[in-house]
Amino acid sequence: MRYLVDLGEHGKNGWCGCDDFAFHCGPALRANLGKPGKGTRCHHIQVARDWFADTCLEKLKDHIKAGTPPSRPLRSTREYQLK
Ligand SMILES: [Zn+2]
Repeated sequence: MRYLVDLGEHGKNGWCGCDDFAFHCGPALRANLGKPGKGTRCHHIQVARDWFADTCLEKLKDHIKAGTPPSRPLRSTREYQLK
C-alpha cells in the first residue's frame, strides 16, 4: 500500500495519509502545539525523511567530488526529479 507523505507540512514535521498519522501522530502533534516531537511522525514520514536526507547527501557528495558546489541550496528532491 502507498501513502502520500508531505515532508514540509506542519512546521516540517510532515504529514501522511495513513491511519497512524490520522489517529495518533496528528493528535500528538496538536497536543505538542504543532511542533515535531515524540510520536508526531509515523513510520512513513520517518522513512521519507531518511530517503530525502540520503538523496540530498548523495547529491551534495557528487557536487563536492566534482568540485562544483550547487548554485543554490538543495531544497527538495522534486527539483532533481524534474530534471
Ligand atoms: Zn504514515
